[in-house]
Amino acid sequence: MDKQLISMLVCPLCKGKLKFDREAAELLCTFDGLAYPVRDGVPVMLEGEARKMSEEEKLEKAQAGTQVGNNKA
Ligand SMILES: [Zn+2]
Repeated sequence: MDKQLISMLVCPLCKGKLKFDREAAELLCTFDGLAYPVRDGVPVMLEGEARKMSEEEKLEKAQAGTQVGNNKA
């Protein structure tokens, strides 16, 4: 998926930045604890489609992973 595209995306709930989980093909909002699916390269930014992360997973994802939109590569 296009990095620039990801950096333009924000969480529809909190308008916060998202993290892209490449392995799971999900965009993560660690603030809300939601994982938005990416289907066929198209992010589905709908709360109803998002997966709720567990508290553990939230913490884990908040620490690890790539901060989307913060990369200067
Ligand atoms: Zn959010």
